[in-house]
Amino acid sequence: MPEHKSYAEIAVALPISKPLTYRVPDILRPHIAPGKRVLVPVKNTSATGYTLACVDHTVQEQVKDVIDVLDSVPVFPASMVPFFRWIADYYLHPIGEVLRAALPGGLNPKPFQAIELSPAGRHTLETPEGLNRHRRQVLDTINRLGPTSEKALIKALDGKIGSKTLREMEKSGLVTVKKKIRPGRTQPKKALFVRASEKPRVPPSGLSQTRQRILDYLSTHEAVPLRTLKGEIPGAGRLARKMADAGLLELFEQCVYRDPFGEPIESETNPHQLTGEQSAVLKTITRGLSQGFKTYLLHGVTGSGKTEVYMHAVSETLKQGRQALVLVPEIALISQTERRFRARFGDCVALLHSGLSAGEHFDQWMRIVEGKAKIAIGARSAIFAPFENPGLFIVDEEHDESYKQESTCRYNARDLAVVRAKQQDAIAVLGSATPSLQSYYNVMGKKFQGLTLNKRIEDRDMARVTVVDLRPKTGSGRAKPLITDTLKTAIEETLARKEQILLFLNRRGFANCPACLSCGAPVRCKYCEVTMTLHRQANAYKCHYCGHTAPHTAPCRVCGNAKIIPIGTGTEKVQAKIEALFPQARVDRMDRDTTRRKGSLVKILRNLKEGATDILIGTQMVAKGHHYPNITLVGILCADLSLNFPDFRSGERTFQLLAQVAGRAGRGERPGRVILQTFNPDHFCITTAKEQDYRAYFDQEIGFRQSALYPPFCRLMQVIITGRDKSQTARYARRAGQICREVISDHPRGQHSIQLLGPVTAPLSRIKDRYRWQLLLKGTRVDPLHQVARTLRRRTAQEMPRKGNRLIIDVDPMNML
Ligand code: ADP
Ligand code: ZN
Repeated sequence: MPEHKSYAEIAVALPISKPLTYRVPDILRPHIAPGKRVLVPVKNTSATGYTLACVDHTVQEQVKDVIDVLDSVPVFPASMVPFFRWIADYYLHPIGEVLRAALPGGLNPKPFQAIELSPAGRHTLETPEGLNRHRRQVLDTINRLGPTSEKALIKALDGKIGSKTLREMEKSGLVTVKKKIRPGRTQPKKALFVRASEKPRVPPSGLSQTRQRILDYLSTHEAVPLRTLKGEIPGAGRLARKMADAGLLELFEQCVYRDPFGEPIESETNPHQLTGEQSAVLKTITRGLSQGFKTYLLHGVTGSGKTEVYMHAVSETLKQGRQALVLVPEIALISQTERRFRARFGDCVALLHSGLSAGEHFDQWMRIVEGKAKIAIGARSAIFAPFENPGLFIVDEEHDESYKQESTCRYNARDLAVVRAKQQDAIAVLGSATPSLQSYYNVMGKKFQGLTLNKRIEDRDMARVTVVDLRPKTGSGRAKPLITDTLKTAIEETLARKEQILLFLNRRGFANCPACLSCGAPVRCKYCEVTMTLHRQANAYKCHYCGHTAPHTAPCRVCGNAKIIPIGTGTEKVQAKIEALFPQARVDRMDRDTTRRKGSLVKILRNLKEGATDILIGTQMVAKGHHYPNITLVGILCADLSLNFPDFRSGERTFQLLAQVAGRAGRGERPGRVILQTFNPDHFCITTAKEQDYRAYFDQEIGFRQSALYPPFCRLMQVIITGRDKSQTARYARRAGQICREVISDHPRGQHSIQLLGPVTAPLSRIKDRYRWQLLLKGTRVDPLHQVARTLRRRTAQEMPRKGNRLIIDVDPMNML
């Protein structure tokens, strides 16, 4: 018998910055363990908490008792506790909320005010004479629903009865209102299973034909779901119960997993023989697997076979009895990488991404906890996969910005992969054709080890890139149309060869700058300081920041004129133009608008794969990891869209996007061609993307970062202040700036001094009806930045009335707008 500890350290799922200690009552001591959820009292309510550790002592004054232990098995391994603590510390986020965000949604029970029948109410219901109709209806409904919230009750009564009636009924003692706990929404799913009985009692008179068939079927199968049996043998559903009663077979309930994979994936028969380059890289990684923590950056051109290397490395990890995590960028559905892993490794793959329902997510999670899944693959939240002893962390397309979470706990899953690998004595492999500046710089500084794949599989050539200058010819004054003559000719030639075309424009909708013909005012969002985009298909203006829509027929909000002209071009307009120019071609579009419905993205990709689409137009969704051998022409309609953002990473983003999109061309046997149109043909991001020369791009960009002191030469911390009231928000931001300045001058740090920029209004100065201000802290070390941020939080909370203002701290920010 292990010695049970008296206290537990609990991370409460509320905005409380530190874990709290609770006493564990005797009867709960054998049940509590790190990784299990508990119910604990907080102030005058109760909340879910996560057990981090069981301890003997506490210095905390005022220790309350744990109310209940919610899990029979831990929902995360104790080995992850240091990881969660690290995240809370580094990203300055309450640890209980870190855990809540990491675990599948909907698990936690919620306290609510439950309305119930009182004994008097129950009695009245049995002898309802003299009771008015309304009250009787209320009692009937509560009786039917059981303990229920006021809101649900009023809804069940079609809103015919309001709170007032309920209050009166409470006063007259017909109903009571008590605090109750509602279990989490997400529960294991159970189904009925059938199996052969150990000693079937076969009746002397023999069995009917169908009954015999059922027994024969079961004798060759282990437990099968009743549904499957019904499908195999008509009439089995009805008979199975009778046969169970007669002791011929057994019916039982068992947990089943909701399968998020949808369509079945055929298993792969013969994996590729690795090329020389691939083998060399794999050898290094394999050696690393038995040598403790290390991070590798795998820089491999598009189509060089990185995924194949990942799969071999995962195999090696499993052979050592450890597990592997594979992170892929967020896209709307299971990616090709996920598919290839499933095809090779089958059922031991668990999938974790935001497209799953809460139930599916829970099931995948529990397969990992129970040790049934050894590989987890998914978008950024998969970094929390609850493996006990992971040995390998792969981050595919490590430069992708979807690894950064832009709300609540603003973590970066790529960085966390390295942190968790270090804590678990594992290795991290970050892969990309266009590595982030940060990671490549880490290779230069020997923090990471560089690995390269220089050649495409089967020595296929990289696509040939032609740059088209979009600037108007001197004297003409008019910009060229986005479908230039060069592009038009190339499309014609490609169509004639029966090959496929990808056209890329990183802007959805029809027109992004609709403006009034009379006064010239752009159509602005009511709630944000941005222009709205005209969407033809939806026949409306939409705000891409808050989702607000306005009817297409709305007049100018400034002068009232009805005539608005659709200036600017998005993918929808491109599609209309292409369809007009090439009426015979089969044209499709892939952007957030056409892929919103479930299954629509799969359909677009399937049509492309089967050759049912000739020209695919898309936003950056098309740049991500797709492999279509018959695409031989890629048109980049306007390469400059991301270049002019007021953000020091705009050049990096542009280079990455262009090189990735260009990498979609010529991935099959036929050579590829790229037409890159731009207003800045001499900009180094464009010229290096044209040559697909990462190193040349890196060498220039790194110089700029160094001279302007931006990452990777410093650490950044952004403070965002938002509020509904314009002047109140400004005052709050200025005061926050003052506090930061005071802290900084109180602690002069010599060469590790901190620079403060701002406060200024953010480039996006109002979003969703909230005014936005920014402060940027720069420093060579992260500790002093953390210290300023902590003090700022504490002092603003003490000194300033909140009045609906929010203070958000973003450590290592990606989005500077
Ligand atoms: P990357 O991820 O670097 O863009 P992929 O892993 O998608 O490249 O590989 C590109 C294509 O080459 C895929 O169709 C893959 O199946 C194929 N491939 C990978 N490795 C080999 C190999 N050693 N031999 C033959 N084909 C390979
Ligand atoms: Zn808006």
